Amino acid sequence: MRITVLGSAREIGRSAILVEDRGAHILLDYGVLVSNGRKKDPEFPLHVRPRDVDAVIVTHAHLDHSGATPLFEVAGPETSIYATRPTIQLSELLLHDLVKISGERLPFTDYEVDMFARNAVEVGYRDPKRIDDLTFSLVDAGHIPGSAMIYLDGSRSILYTGDMNRRETGLLKGYDTDLPETDVVIMESTYSQTDHPAREAEERAFVEFVEEVVEREGTLLVPAFAVGRAQEAALALWRHRFPYPIYMDGMALTANSILLSNPEYLKDHQGLEKALDSVEYVRSWRVRKRIVNEPCVIISPAGMLVGGASVFYSKAVGGDENNGIAIVAYQAPETPGRKLLDEGVLDERSKRRARAEVRRFDLSSHSGRTELLDFVTEDVKGDPLVVLVHGEEEPMLKFADELGEKGLSVVAPSLGETIEV
Ligand SMILES: [Zn+2]
Repeated sequence: MRITVLGSAREIGRSAILVEDRGAHILLDYGVLVSNGRKKDPEFPLHVRPRDVDAVIVTHAHLDHSGATPLFEVAGPETSIYATRPTIQLSELLLHDLVKISGERLPFTDYEVDMFARNAVEVGYRDPKRIDDLTFSLVDAGHIPGSAMIYLDGSRSILYTGDMNRRETGLLKGYDTDLPETDVVIMESTYSQTDHPAREAEERAFVEFVEEVVEREGTLLVPAFAVGRAQEAALALWRHRFPYPIYMDGMALTANSILLSNPEYLKDHQGLEKALDSVEYVRSWRVRKRIVNEPCVIISPAGMLVGGASVFYSKAVGGDENNGIAIVAYQAPETPGRKLLDEGVLDERSKRRARAEVRRFDLSSHSGRTELLDFVTEDVKGDPLVVLVHGEEEPMLKFADELGEKGLSVVAPSLGETIEV
């Protein structure tokens, strides 16, 4: 069995792992790197000829895992694509948005995205499927609704985590710890050197800040990813009985209806339904322009202020010191969200500075350092080779050393590197 890392090697983004075994070629994820702002071209994984690939298995809808999959529809649907139902539906939503934002700079169009959604094969958790002489099954990864780890069994066995979260959140229970014994573990290591604060306390601090701003008659903006974080923010407010108006805008609204139509992929379907019932949906510019002058909270994509209605909101809300902006997601380098957080810059062109109170809350949907260590030392069965991916280089190499000191066999491959097992 040969494992080649075509993307997410010592970096976060464009996840792509090629597995060759018993004559079959299977890709685990095929994502893009879009986080460097809308002006830059999305970066793709290393090339592989679509007709050489028998199947692509997608762990979850985030574009850094799903964003390059429509490439397999350009030449016609010869490659099978497998994912859970929410992953297919949410990927379709996010891919159409990618086409809208990056249009001509992409090697595919809305047509290929439609084909992707039509041809992708739905797979449930723990429902084994065959690809030639290999079998695979998906295990709940606890990261966003529909997210999965992939267990692939051939001449050797692999567990690929995709993005995973061990801790319970408002939306999900955390990953399924009943994992199969395996020869190789390919694991994400995003937060290998950082622990997240206690979730409950962080959510409480978030709600308190929101309340404080609204009670002083201010408007509070929560820029949030459409899938996952927007709903987590709404759930946190609902659970703490937040008494003021909550608005939600943009792609998050479509994501809401996809999530609610997949109740078996949620921890508490009714809870989410109730939380979203207490939210008012924004669908017109008339309402957008009105609510930025109201004491209320506005949850809107994009999470890093790259495109979406949150660009309008941040400029409208950010200039007034009475208002607030709660950053609840990771802000990639170079994005407007990162510039706002680090430098207080509201508008790059005019260099206008934010006067609103900007605060950051860690509502991460990834495992932190402690959980990653628990994953390799407690949850993983057998004595597998550990392959680190999806992390920045420096912390990843440090984590590799630490795991090595614990007696584990570990590698942190570079881009294009092949591991033979
Ligand atoms: Zn993700």
